[in-house]
Amino acid sequence: MAGRFSLSTANTLSHFASIMKPKILIQFDPDAHASTFDSIVAIDSGVDQLLQRANVTERDIEGLVHGAMFTRGVKDLCRTALFFGGSNVENTEALVAAAKKCFFGPMRVSIMSDPNGSNTTAAAAVLSAEKHGSLSEKKIVILAGTGPVGQRIAKIIASAASVVSASIFVCSRKLEKATSVVDDLSSSMDVPTGIELQPAQAGSVDEAAELTRDADVVFAAGAAGICLMDDRWQQNDRQQILIDINAVPPSGIAGVEVMDTGEQRGNSVCYGAIGVGGLKMKIHKLALQKLFETNDLVLDTETIYQLGTSLA
Ligand code: NAP
Repeated sequence: MAGRFSLSTANTLSHFASIMKPKILIQFDPDAHASTFDSIVAIDSGVDQLLQRANVTERDIEGLVHGAMFTRGVKDLCRTALFFGGSNVENTEALVAAAKKCFFGPMRVSIMSDPNGSNTTAAAAVLSAEKHGSLSEKKIVILAGTGPVGQRIAKIIASAASVVSASIFVCSRKLEKATSVVDDLSSSMDVPTGIELQPAQAGSVDEAAELTRDADVVFAAGAAGICLMDDRWQQNDRQQILIDINAVPPSGIAGVEVMDTGEQRGNSVCYGAIGVGGLKMKIHKLALQKLFETNDLVLDTETIYQLGTSLA
């Protein structure tokens, strides 16, 4: 009797130990120090254990990912997930690609890629614009669209099922750079026939004013502290949506305040970096929570945007 009781108790304990396995997030960062921002968001989104690995190179990935894949049984792999951050987007993308190659059959864990916050920020910027209507049939200008955030804004809009047709201008100070980015983007995805993805030069506030005069939506995705557009938009009769992603003064679009969250200014609806950042944080936390629902989720630019649509 006592033996049967012990066995049953052991089974029950083992069952609970299994369902109670802590949610472990492993944060991979190619930088010298794993991003404190990414660590804090991970803790705030409810992970039980955060393991941080800094200075991670492609050579390290196989061993580190195997450690995550082979420690727990298949049914518990959904309690382990990988997050890839870092300030150099190309380095991080190489780590993500290497990690995916380690998986086979059911032996995999969910992963999220958000180098420098680029995926969550781009998703939040596009979703902020979409709060004011569909982006279909709109002229969309992405100033300094050659950086990680700008490129992802272009990619999200060009691939969104809700956008049937649109003209998307990816701008740079140099036309050759914009052309090269548009060529790369176009070859990395199936651009629907209704979407015109075009390079444009906007190397001065005058060129930016000219290009954006008849735009419906303008994203300013320039480097921190760079003003790309002056306040001539305030004289524009046209209703525009202006989204500035740069959080460091001066504003990327003069006259748009960093806290603006759909503020009506003249004929335009304005978002500043903190206004976009609120939604970005919600998307980031939701994405981290989703990682632990299954062991085969891959959260990248498009899937993070899709997840964000449930919040916006
Ligand atoms: P980035 O790579 O640093 O810069 C984007 C583009 O800005 C560059 O490709 C470059 O384009 C242009 N640029 C660089 N220096 C310039 C200068 N001196 N004058 C004019 N243009 C210049 O930016 P990112 O990583 O994509 O991020 C975009 C913005 O989002 C940044 O301001 C970043 O701080 C901000 N951010 C905000 C959040 C948030 O939550 N709000 C989160 C992440 C990032 P060309 O060389 O082609 O002209």
